[in-house]
Amino acid sequence: MPKAVIIGSGIAGLASALRIRRLGYEVDVFEKNSYAGGKLHTLEKEGFRFDLGPSLFTMPQFVDELFELFSLVPGDHFRYARKETICNYFWEDGGRFVVKADREHFIKDAAQFFGEDPGTLRGYLEDNRRKFDLTSGIFLEKSLHKAKTYLSPETFKAIIRIGSLDLNRSLNAVNSNTFKDPRLVQLFNRYATYNGSSPYQTPGIMSLIPHLEMHFGTFIPEGGMHRISQSIYELALRVGVKFHFGREVERILTEKGVAKGILTEDGPHAADLIVSNMDIYPTYKKLMPDLPYPKRTLEQERSSSALIFYWGIQKVFEELDLHNIFFSDDYRGEFRALFEEKNLNDDPTVYLNITSKDVPGDAPNGCENWFVMINAPGNYGQDWKILKSKARRLILKKLSTCLGVDIEPLIVTEHVLDPIGIEDNTSSYRGALYGAASNSRFAAFLRHPNFSRNIENLYFCGGSVHPGGGIPLCLMSAKIVADLIPHPNSLVPHG
Ligand code: FAD
Repeated sequence: MPKAVIIGSGIAGLASALRIRRLGYEVDVFEKNSYAGGKLHTLEKEGFRFDLGPSLFTMPQFVDELFELFSLVPGDHFRYARKETICNYFWEDGGRFVVKADREHFIKDAAQFFGEDPGTLRGYLEDNRRKFDLTSGIFLEKSLHKAKTYLSPETFKAIIRIGSLDLNRSLNAVNSNTFKDPRLVQLFNRYATYNGSSPYQTPGIMSLIPHLEMHFGTFIPEGGMHRISQSIYELALRVGVKFHFGREVERILTEKGVAKGILTEDGPHAADLIVSNMDIYPTYKKLMPDLPYPKRTLEQERSSSALIFYWGIQKVFEELDLHNIFFSDDYRGEFRALFEEKNLNDDPTVYLNITSKDVPGDAPNGCENWFVMINAPGNYGQDWKILKSKARRLILKKLSTCLGVDIEPLIVTEHVLDPIGIEDNTSSYRGALYGAASNSRFAAFLRHPNFSRNIENLYFCGGSVHPGGGIPLCLMSAKIVADLIPHPNSLVPHG
């Protein structure tokens, strides 16, 4: 049976392993860590359980699909519930707004709270849907780097409507021209952070992101986010994928422009095809240092990173839900600091995620597991000790002000992750959460393709390549890779 090697067991590596196995390959996954899941990992500390990475789960059908590929009923292996509340928003002046998942409910509440016309709100959401429907089939589901994508009727339809996709103005410009209340502009500007970008730079087409949340819904897996990677990993084991943990891949071995295998500390491992789930930057720089690399693609601006404080809190806050945002009063300054100054603003927006609201057992009785995150610049050699201590102070001040309770004495356990830690754990260049930023209208085209243009039988998946970062897009990248690779019967065996 022809053999495929996957480098890395992040969500995209796991999904690629499954899809390629389904095609009929023998599949071996080499992972430098002792566990599967990459950024989707978990931490247990003093009776609290924390998801270390992603906290927002959308498009669960892409996970279900993996079970269906093997004729299994997804719900027998991986269960999740739809959330009725999308997010609680807080402003320091005492303003608080709850976004309900039901669209008409949201429109009614927002019209009342922000004094907006319901027709304007409805029109905005419809426009987001239109942008998504026009572009998702081209930008998310196919390789952007194959001619046949451009020859489809779908692409033609999008091209003739390109002027209405808001590629030439920023997300902030779209939102500011639509809404009167700056708080509502800020609420919709926040979606730029879903791919680690700035709302003042990312193009207005990104207003399709709220559509994913407000139309398709947000979900919480039974057992927490970590179950996403774990259930897929368990499925991979079940269908015969072999895992090699604690095995860092040191080189991709090539011969006359064809990928032939990989090198680990055990020596060479031959393969008929290789899929790298490692960040594209170190894939070129570390695994293929002698080969030419795509300079423009690798030099693209990286997405933002994060500073995360995992706090066990000995109190239950009834006014909080799974997702909570405490907004900065200086949003523009926050993004200027992140992307231009590579620094932290004095008033960062704080995201607070509490899975113990939905996952029993994630915190002891009378307590909550707080995942407290602020956007941070990538690692450019800043003094993270100083930045972490500044962030902790500013976060505690904001949360204490908005919640009317001194938070620091309630912290019973603490763990901290910074951009250096994110890079160490997963090899994400500069600790970026989502690969390259989408701060330009050309970003989608500059992302690395899911295949190598120079090396035959070499493919790429994951958050640093097309179509981008975040769980749903990583899962899409695996699907695109599986569509690109040859059927095993058409391969010439290695040797
Ligand atoms: P990664 O998870 O980056 O994993 C790559 C794997 O490859 C790792 O296991 C690594 O150890 C392994 N590896 C690297 N180099 C080698 C080598 N040489 N040899 C062997 N193995 C190697 N997304 C969302 O959808 N929702 C969210 O709410 C969200 N929040 C986030 C919050 C944080 C704090 C972070 C860090 C990310 C967040 N994301 C979120 C982004 C999401 O986590 C990523 O886009 C996604 O998990 C990336 O998956 P991946 O498959 O690209 O690989």
